[in-house]
Amino acid sequence: MEIMLPTSGLVVRPGKLVCIGRNYAKHAAEMKSSVPENPVIFLKPSTALVGQGGKVVLPPMSREVHHEIELVVAIGRGGKQIPINDALNHVDGYALGLDMTARDLQEQAKLKGLPWSVSKGFDTFAPLGPLAKAHDVGDPQQLEFELRVNGEVRQKARTADMIFSVAFLISYCSSMFTLLPGDLIYTGTPDGVGPVVSGDLLEANSSKLPELRVKVKRPA
Ligand code: MG
Repeated sequence: MEIMLPTSGLVVRPGKLVCIGRNYAKHAAEMKSSVPENPVIFLKPSTALVGQGGKVVLPPMSREVHHEIELVVAIGRGGKQIPINDALNHVDGYALGLDMTARDLQEQAKLKGLPWSVSKGFDTFAPLGPLAKAHDVGDPQQLEFELRVNGEVRQKARTADMIFSVAFLISYCSSMFTLLPGDLIYTGTPDGVGPVVSGDLLEANSSKLPELRVKVKRPA
């Protein structure tokens, strides 16, 4: 999937989706996990992306797919070893996104010490809403957003509650991976994650970001 970066107007195919685990203390607690000393990082393939109005397809391998609503950062200007105090200048836009997770497969992987790639990386497991210009959004640590499933609020977040800030995450990720225009950072989910089933309507809202809407379906 290609995306249009709203500030630069550049149309790109995102090269990588860098995802942050356990970035809100209450979510770490609900997963019975500790609050990490450093960000927990994993990658999703760009083939997991699905856009506004798209469908999340439940993989037959899993019996329990969860929603995780997250703030997503779209990189505009690439870089490596980006200093924290310059990090937000590398952002082109922000959006709401979902880090869909096959929780049963993730739990099995955790028990065996195996990677999360399969549980997190299925096609359509990274819904992405329309991007808002970074300038219009302003301070990314002053956002509020929520996720409704079939009209019922399931998750509510204030980015002020993030353990690691957006600027820190950009700097930290760029110390390992060269960030390129169009790369996306999924910044972690707040508490309230839970299962979805075929037919569910997922709607994410924020005062400063465009709405994200997707439906859940079983494979054809
Ligand atoms: Mg997540």
